Amino acid sequence: MMDLVRTTKRRLMWFFAVLTMLFLLLFVVAAYLTVSQSVMKEKEDELMAMLSDKSLSRLIHEAEEPHEKPFNHNLFAIVGTSGNILEKQGDGIEAMIDGWTPNILETKEVDQDNREYLLAGKPVRGGGYVYSGVDVTEQKRVLNRLFMVLLILTILFTFAATLLSFIMAGKAIRPIIKSAERQRDFVNDASHELRTPLSILSAGFEILEEEKDRLSDFSRQTVDDLSGEVRRMSSLVNDLLVLARADSGKLVLEKKVLNLTNLVSRSVRSFSRIVEVDGISLTTDLKEEVYLKGDEDRLQQLLYLLLDNAHKYNVQDGHVHVSLKETGSEVILTVEDGGIGIAQEHQDKIFERFFRVDLSRSRTHGSNGIGLSIAAFIVEAHNGKVLLESKVGQGSCFTVVLPGLSNEY
Ligand code: ADP
Repeated sequence: MMDLVRTTKRRLMWFFAVLTMLFLLLFVVAAYLTVSQSVMKEKEDELMAMLSDKSLSRLIHEAEEPHEKPFNHNLFAIVGTSGNILEKQGDGIEAMIDGWTPNILETKEVDQDNREYLLAGKPVRGGGYVYSGVDVTEQKRVLNRLFMVLLILTILFTFAATLLSFIMAGKAIRPIIKSAERQRDFVNDASHELRTPLSILSAGFEILEEEKDRLSDFSRQTVDDLSGEVRRMSSLVNDLLVLARADSGKLVLEKKVLNLTNLVSRSVRSFSRIVEVDGISLTTDLKEEVYLKGDEDRLQQLLYLLLDNAHKYNVQDGHVHVSLKETGSEVILTVEDGGIGIAQEHQDKIFERFFRVDLSRSRTHGSNGIGLSIAAFIVEAHNGKVLLESKVGQGSCFTVVLPGLSNEY
């Protein structure tokens, strides 16, 4: 539960941060483009106005005679019909316009000697071209500086936004955490409260079982049904309690070095009586003596959960096989059944809380979708992992891999 809350908080934080960054970037690009376009447009318009001067075309034909320079601009040039420069102003203008035959009022930017120029040109009626240009180095420098400042601001604001998102996500998630904690405490308290009456009921049914012979057939059947229900409820309440304790971090494992082979054979022995009633065979492969460091009660619970499932989801006259071995630094426990199997699409969900493949089995099989989430918790708390291989109609194999004594990872 807390993992889910933490993941949601992290997702919310990144969502806020990425969204803010995107908005900032969009703003920076839009601001830069608007400013740079309006600065350059102003320069372009200036050049265009000059080149549109009607008297210019005459100049080409009068260029041999002395006259005043037509522009106040840094650069200009008049090229005659034969391609010769008739009039010019500004160093390097020849190189800038060399080979450039502009269409009407075309512009281009030129880099020359570490300076940047904006040129405009147009053909003149009767032949030849006129060119005009301005030095825009300063404007470009200011625009570059503006871009750098905006970029640095974006980075700074992104950091600030990430921090703010972290705080905001924390605030947004707080009511959910509170409600989850209240729910967990409620489950914890309710399970505790229910344990006592359930134990009294179980004890009562045990006494009635001893007196079974004196009961009528109907009463005997009722006692059997009711004691079955009480057993089911007790196991559910215990499971809920384990989950609530695990969530609140109150479930402390008491790890010690233990003989897992003994534990498995003991559990299998007591379980075989239950499965045999349904004609299911239970075989083992426990040749090796395997030791590990773990919590005996929890490991026994893990085995019961897997065996219980192998029984519940088996078929008439099916089989269950349990094996235990040590390979290198790992202890490998498998519980395999020839039961109904689990479809591929459900395999990664079955360890989630309250997930059940077939909801209609919940009443008949005492299925509540908690068992495997507890199993996964126990395995994780022992720094191990559970693997599943299953095929519908063929059965399932749960493999628990735990660190051996030589490898306490
Ligand atoms: P429960 O068995 O109480 O429903 P679990 O968490 O133990 O809860 O199992 C979740 C679901 O996974 C079960 O409802 C069942 O659909 C499926 N499942 C678990 N073990 C097996 C198995 N050995 N064979 C087939 N299905 C299984």
